[in-house]
Amino acid sequence: MRKQGSKERIRQFFLANVGRVITSIEIRDAAGSNVSEWARRVRELREDEGWPILTHHDNAGLKPGQYLLKEAPPERPAVAFARSISGKIRAEVLDRNGFTCQMCGLTPGDIDPSTGRKVRLHIGHIVDKSIGGKDELSNLRTLCSTCNQGAKNITAVKPPAIWLLSQIRRAGIEEQNAVYDWLRKKFKE
Ligand SMILES: [Zn+2]
Repeated sequence: MRKQGSKERIRQFFLANVGRVITSIEIRDAAGSNVSEWARRVRELREDEGWPILTHHDNAGLKPGQYLLKEAPPERPAVAFARSISGKIRAEVLDRNGFTCQMCGLTPGDIDPSTGRKVRLHIGHIVDKSIGGKDELSNLRTLCSTCNQGAKNITAVKPPAIWLLSQIRRAGIEEQNAVYDWLRKKFKE
């Protein structure tokens, strides 16, 4: 029960500090009495639950011992992992892909219009393992469950700017405002 408690405290501490750099000392204090396991708990949030927690390994602006939960994490369990892929590689793929499905562009927190359900991410192989694809960074990408099942009719070709702009122009004012808010948030950093 105690272990559960410290992980939950760390979880709540990160959630209360989204977007703010926090230190290992603060995390240790938040975790409570057992000081030896906080680092493992942080790793679990990052690798098993896909929380976008950055360290000095990922971000030159951070010093050793500093952590940053970049944005609100996906609701549990928003990321499903193939067991054969290491936690480090999974975290790298998610971070590289910005926690976004590389086919349809949906991200945890979005409702998938094709299913009406919250988006759940997977790490998928670009070249399937059955035909020799490897569990390597270059052969992995982030997909939502619907795209992972091949259930959306979308090509992997990225949409050109002119197409995006034309779609925004023909959208309703509410949709255009949502795009504007998203862009403003994205480029604020
Ligand atoms: Zn998708």
